Amino acid sequence: MNIFEPQLFRRQFPLIVSHDKFLTESDRTISPLIYFDNAATTQKPKQVIDVQQHYYNNFNANVHRASHQLSSKATFAFEKARSLVQEFIGAKSVKEIIWTKGATESINIVAQSLGRNTLKPEDEIVLCASEHHANIVPWQIVAEQTGAVIKVLPLTSHGYIDIDEIDKIITDKTKFVACAHISNVLGRINPIKQLIAKAKSVGAISLIDGAQAVAHLSIDVQLLACDFYVFSAHKMYGPTGVGVLYGKKELLENMQPYQGGGEMIKKVSFNQATTFNSLPFKFEAGTPNIAGIIAFAECIDFLIPFLTDVKNSYSLYEQKLINYCYQALDKIEQVKFIVGGTPDVGVIAFTITGHHNHDIAMSLDTFGIAIRSGHHCAMPLMAYLNLTGCLRVSLAAYNSLEEIDYFIASLKNILLEGALEQISKHEEEEVLSSLATNEIENIITLFSNTKSWDSRHREIMLLGKTLPRLHKALRSDTTLISGCESLAWLKLEYSEQGLYMFTADSDAKIIRGLLVIVLAAYNKKTAIQIHEFNINAYFSHLGLMQHLSPSRGNGLLAIVDKIKLLTKNSD
Ligand code: PMP
Repeated sequence: MNIFEPQLFRRQFPLIVSHDKFLTESDRTISPLIYFDNAATTQKPKQVIDVQQHYYNNFNANVHRASHQLSSKATFAFEKARSLVQEFIGAKSVKEIIWTKGATESINIVAQSLGRNTLKPEDEIVLCASEHHANIVPWQIVAEQTGAVIKVLPLTSHGYIDIDEIDKIITDKTKFVACAHISNVLGRINPIKQLIAKAKSVGAISLIDGAQAVAHLSIDVQLLACDFYVFSAHKMYGPTGVGVLYGKKELLENMQPYQGGGEMIKKVSFNQATTFNSLPFKFEAGTPNIAGIIAFAECIDFLIPFLTDVKNSYSLYEQKLINYCYQALDKIEQVKFIVGGTPDVGVIAFTITGHHNHDIAMSLDTFGIAIRSGHHCAMPLMAYLNLTGCLRVSLAAYNSLEEIDYFIASLKNILLEGALEQISKHEEEEVLSSLATNEIENIITLFSNTKSWDSRHREIMLLGKTLPRLHKALRSDTTLISGCESLAWLKLEYSEQGLYMFTADSDAKIIRGLLVIVLAAYNKKTAIQIHEFNINAYFSHLGLMQHLSPSRGNGLLAIVDKIKLLTKNSD
């Protein structure tokens, strides 16, 4: 398939089409899946999945190391993938293409292999206010190690780097300028050519984080004239665990390896200093993700025709989706976009007045719509915009106008009919009375009748209504549970009998419901009972594990951890 045609393109993605009958044929026996979380990771086309499987079935062997045919075959495909990447981004030489496990590792390599050895106290590293944590934390670590200082470029009201400010921030003290080509929250194509030129004019090294750009734009690193360009395969329809560090050969040649191990050496001895392999192998310690890299080559073959199509059909279609979705959202009164104007790529971030982001995202999930809520690994951006988090719809070229219609209708349904509130007095009283003794058995009974995430979600929301609100004065920094993406507070009391009593609250309705479930397990228990209780088994029994595994996303782990911490060593 070389010509972009939306329907045909969509058909290449097995996971996406397996749910199609729900929308196209109104077949309600099929569960819906509207996948709008493409900035997190994209789905994979069948040919990429097949190539990965074919490698394991037919020529799985380690690369570069053996003198047998199987290894030669694997090595050939592996190195061919490197050449394809070189071509894909217009690099001068294959030696400039380093395999990593993702954009994050690529940035860490530059920070540690180059930054750590060259930065001095008071030297400056310039980042942008909208960076992903992957392009902040590695620089913070190296700043801490070397005494360098981080400076931040501000944004315009439309979410672009404010280019008018670069002369003030990028100065002779600047040694690195590291910036996203496209922010994973704002979806704006930053004016990186100007930024790179400015960095060059003061003798600073430029690094561009292309994680969100590679699926949408044709990249030419020589035209951009950047020193480093990094990206991950999984954001451009390729496998997870594969990334690229492009770097100018002169720079890479003078950099120290980041990790030591097999393949990155020339000679190892106990008596003399170990010498390192030439580029690009010097930075590729250990066995790489061979299957993933070979499948990534297939993915590049798949994508190149669309990105380089003179008719622009692929990007015009993406633009059509963006405009359609943005305009439909704009018509909903409660929707507030986090910055002004339509984004350049399909990443649309907003909040909904009067509702917590998590409540909206989890309610949409009951309609089969996957969107993201939270800080999107861009906490400094959230602080910059004075937000605690936001919702993000991120579109890919396999998405359709029909999916957007369904998403908008579902969102309106949630908001207009107040689905989040749509719990009758009678139902509420029923739950309240069943929880009168607030025992764990009652929770288990409540959930035993639920068959789907829909009905479980409803029970959680019902339970949330039964949780008395904490007095405002108690919702303070001392009771705040950190690590929870929504705000949640926990207060404990200790009885003379040595039992704990917890009261809690959250600004998200879903979290209030989860708190009722968690507190039913821990309230009126001794510290030993609390620590011995198997919370995972409890959640699994309620049928919640697959949706709410105690991870950072919903803050469950943070709540459980806080309870355990507060009750530690007290028996
Ligand atoms: N930068 C940006 C802009 C991103 O969106 C992401 C992933 N969300 C990363 C860096 C990190 O990518 P990875 O997790 O694949 O290393």
